[in-house]
This record gives sequence, C-alpha cells and structure tokens, in this order.
Amino acid sequence: MSRQSEIPDSERQIVTGIITAIRAVAGPVSVQLHEPEFCGREQEYVLECIRSGYVSSIGTYVDRFGQMLGDRLGAPAAVPTVNGTAALHLCLKLMGVERSDEVILPTLSFVATANAVSYCGAVPHFVDSQMSTLGLDAEKLGRHLRDIARIEGENVVNRLTGRRIAAIVPVHIFGHPVDMDPLLDLAAQWALPVIEDAAEALGSLYKGRPAGTIGRIAAFSFNGNKIVTTGGGGAVVSTDPALAARARHLSTTARVPHRWEFDHDEVGYNYRMPNLNAALGCAQLESLDKFVTEKRALAKAYSRVFKDLPGADFVEEPAVGTSIYWLNAILLDPQIRRDAVLEALNESGLAARPCWRLLSDLTPYRDCPRGDLAVAQDIWARLVNIPSSARLGRQLGEKK
Ligand SMILES: *Cc1c(COP(=O)(O)O)cnc(C)c1O
Repeated sequence: MSRQSEIPDSERQIVTGIITAIRAVAGPVSVQLHEPEFCGREQEYVLECIRSGYVSSIGTYVDRFGQMLGDRLGAPAAVPTVNGTAALHLCLKLMGVERSDEVILPTLSFVATANAVSYCGAVPHFVDSQMSTLGLDAEKLGRHLRDIARIEGENVVNRLTGRRIAAIVPVHIFGHPVDMDPLLDLAAQWALPVIEDAAEALGSLYKGRPAGTIGRIAAFSFNGNKIVTTGGGGAVVSTDPALAARARHLSTTARVPHRWEFDHDEVGYNYRMPNLNAALGCAQLESLDKFVTEKRALAKAYSRVFKDLPGADFVEEPAVGTSIYWLNAILLDPQIRRDAVLEALNESGLAARPCWRLLSDLTPYRDCPRGDLAVAQDIWARLVNIPSSARLGRQLGEKK
C-alpha cells in the first residue's frame, strides 16, 4: 500500500481547506512567516548615523531609542541591548538570580528564555501553559509550588532538589498576554520576583496595560523577525527607575562615568546596543502603531476564514488582553497529523512552522526539574504558525 492511500480522505479535505483559507487571506503568491518592513525613515536615520561617524557604543540614537521605547510603554527610558537574550540575562541578574538557583519558566517558549537562566549558572524549572493564553498557568503553578516548595527563612526552596527558587519568568507567547493578575498574586505569596519575557509582545496590552510593564522588570527583542527590528537588538524595561539605571550600568561594562578614567566597579557586560542598530530602531518604532493595526487586521481576517472550517481553530487573543498577533497560529484537531499540514502548506508556498520543541525536551534541559506539562505538550502537538507579516494585513485593506 502506498503512503498516499494511507492518508484518509477526510484529512486531505481538511488540509485543502486550510490552504484555501490561508490563500484567501494571504493572497496567491509565496509568503514567508514574518518579514521585516522598512517603509518609514529607516534609510534616512541609518545614513545620518553613518555620516556622523558614531556607529558603535556612543551616539544619540541609542538614547533616543531607549527614550522612545520607554515613552511608548509609559515607563522610564528603556535600556537598549545587543539582543533580547542579553536583556533577559541582565533582568535575571538584577532580580538576584545566582548560581545553582532555579528559575520558573514555561516549557513552551523559545530557547533564549532557558539559555539566559543557564548564563546565570541557574537551572530552569519548567511549568505548564494555559490553553486560553498559551502562556504560563498561574493556578497550576500554585498547586505545583504547594507540592514541591517550602519557605526557609527568606528563601523559597524546592524540597526535591534542595535548590532555591529565585524568580518566575512568564512569556507572552506570539504576543498574547499572559494572565498576569493571578500570577502576580501567587508571586507575592511566595515573595518571588516576576520577570516578563516580552520579546514577542511589544504593543500588546494586558487589561489595558502594556505587556512588559507589569512585572518588576522585562526583556524585549528587536531581532529581524519581531514586530519592530533593529537588525539584532533587545531592551530591558522597568517601571522602577533605579532598576533601569542598574541595567544600564551593567550593560555598559559597569564603567563609572568619568571624562577619561577607566574605572569599573563590578563585573559588567558589553551588552549595549550599537548606535547603528538604534538608528534603524528609531524609524521602526515610529511605525509601530501602523504595524499593530495591520497585524490585528490580518488576524481578524484569519479568524473569519477559519471560523466555520472543520479540522482547525484559529488561536484568538485571550479575553484578558489585546494581542499584536506577532505570529498567527492555528490549532489542529487531534486526529489531523500536524506534519502533514506543515508539509502541504510549505509545499504550496505558504510558510508554516510548528511551535518550538518544548524546552524540557531539548538535550541541554532534559534533566531539569518540571511540573506536569500536559497542556504544553498538547499545544506543541497541534499548533501550526501561519504567515504573519504586517504587509499581509495592509494588503487586505488595499483589496477592498
Ligand atoms: C526572540 C525571543 C527572545 C530573544 O531573542 P534574541 O534573538 O536574543 O533577540 C527571547 N524570548 C522569546 C520568547 C523570543 O521570542
């Protein structure tokens, strides 16, 4: 029997339906998953930066970018960094994460979240996600902590490993805000700091508040595939100006300000974003509102075409927030083989990807502590990301 004939007709029909639905929104040509867009003053600013000679660690665009980002979020000036992973590393350092500590994070995230924990010499402790937000499930985490943790003096200790639990890192997956209120309550009960991984959520709101301003400190990313890009880049954001100042100091080799002396008062990092990248970022931030509108229009169009389609559900923003839909996603019915859908979509010129492999399944993190991960495993098995560039949303408006 050939492989072809083993594929049930019903699945083939569903896959065809999915392709037709995406085509109706994304148009007839090949489309990528997420393309950057330079439709504002990018060339002007970058050229100006080159002409100024200040392309590296000194220059006005870095401060301007940090200020613009802070203003957009209603926070003190952000601290621009070389990438989002470096921003996360600084956040963890500033929240006191040390060697041999454990840090709670969702197993459903990009590898950078866990890697930043490792850079501190600490160990990720993986927990489950919520179907409604794709993000960390606070209620389930509460039960898990009651099962495995106890308070010893000032510390929360994992009774199974003997290690201190030092922080919680919720991740706003694909721009969908995590349900933060129950998580903040839980964190307060255990006196644990909350660090937001807001890498995918610039412009998203939780109950009207910008993602990345709800925990004590947050990391953003401006990699080429994010909603706003600086080529490579990131930022630390905190509503506490003292924390932001500490992040800035650590990101600039902990150099003590002086006109000519080189004095460094602790082990710092060379994590500051170069001026050239910040120049690009300033122009990109000017377009953020436009990108958000276009990406939300795209998501709305997807939502419509998937509404009555059998076999797949479009992943909607959670009721608790407003998402930028960084990446759009569908969840397949359990009987549909995810890889058959991935194969067919990519074959027909529509870029589609599965979710990242669960962090708890990756070779470097296989032996890390964890809670029950059933929901994340289910999401991983059934989720497919579909084309999500802002351009596709604008195209919809033009078609009308
Ligand atoms: C993009 C991303 C990061 C940071 O990535 P960099 O490439 O280092 O800028 C961190 N966490 C998540 C969830 C991300 O998507």
